[in-house]
Amino acid sequence: MRIQFGILAAAWALAAAAGAQHQHVFGAAGGAPGDGAAAAASDIRVTWETQPGRLYESARLIKVAENVRPRWLDIGSIMALRRAGVRFMDITDVQDLHSGAPALAGGYESQLPQRLAQKKDVEGAIGRLSEELYGKVLVPFTAFHNRYYDSENGRRSSQWLQEQVEALVAGHNVTVRQFRHKFAQPSVIARIEGASDETVVISAHQDSVNMWLPWFGRASGADDDGSGTVTILEALRGILAQGFAPHRSVEFHWYAGEEGGLLGSQDVARAYRNEARKVVANMHFDMTGFWDRKDKELIGLVADHTDPETRALVARLAAEYTRLQTREFSCGYACSDHASWNTAGFRSAMAFESDQLDGNTNIHTPADSVETLDFTHMLEFSKLAVAFAYEVGYHQP
Ligand SMILES: [Zn+2]
Repeated sequence: MRIQFGILAAAWALAAAAGAQHQHVFGAAGGAPGDGAAAAASDIRVTWETQPGRLYESARLIKVAENVRPRWLDIGSIMALRRAGVRFMDITDVQDLHSGAPALAGGYESQLPQRLAQKKDVEGAIGRLSEELYGKVLVPFTAFHNRYYDSENGRRSSQWLQEQVEALVAGHNVTVRQFRHKFAQPSVIARIEGASDETVVISAHQDSVNMWLPWFGRASGADDDGSGTVTILEALRGILAQGFAPHRSVEFHWYAGEEGGLLGSQDVARAYRNEARKVVANMHFDMTGFWDRKDKELIGLVADHTDPETRALVARLAAEYTRLQTREFSCGYACSDHASWNTAGFRSAMAFESDQLDGNTNIHTPADSVETLDFTHMLEFSKLAVAFAYEVGYHQP
């Protein structure tokens, strides 16, 4: 577990202190006091009255580690956790997902390919990939003031993303739908129907947040997670151009509300579990565009709260189909949306831009911009998504 007990205790204390302090209410959201660090320096207290959405009208049940009892926190305390860099799950509306580990319906056990059998098509699809779409989508996507999940910004940015997905799959046999949540921003799901009743899930998250001023601060969210968003979008474009027709259904998910504590992905994973959907595995991409040139360029693989076999398969796919080596690292309990699938009892893996979780210090601020991304690096992750879609989607157990 990455979060040491001492840090955890400090974070809870911080959260409690923030909740107890007098709350200063800002004026209308239009009167935002400026972005970024300058605003951070002032003593900003927020209440739900200032928010565009209603999610935080009452306290939320927050879980920060597997074996630590969740606590009810108000928005001020939740913000303090976020600023302290503590990753958490908001389990308020999905408590059944966290109470024990019920066996998947019918005792379903997913099977991953033992050998790579789709080289011709994977290499064909990879040959069709380019960096062109990244900028074309990311420039307008990051121009939304923010993509905060519990706001009109978040709803509109989701709508816009959905339109991009719909335009991209036009003429192909792909259905695109919204998955609605309790907050304004829906998740977006594109599905390529297969012959079997199993589903492969490839994902990223679409929301962004400013860690100091969540709902009216500027949050361009280029790396976090605009990069993952377009990484899988380009992979989808590549496989469709190659004539992708999988045995298993393959879905591409763009989750809402990851920054609120894996809200969107927990809702989706819970629904799929309750519907007894046979999910073969989830492959998640959260941040694929930034790496420190002083380090070796590589693909980080999250070693905790993921499935060992899926991880091993992803490492093999990277070795076979990308120019980068993989390296495992620990990410912590509520690292990103793969943890929701892990909690729901499904296989999951997560590929990351480096093995340095905190390598990109721009995230959750206005500095997380398109110019900081390396599209050439991102292309390797699109290749990985293509390979995963083919090798797992075409596999017939
Ligand atoms: Zn993220």
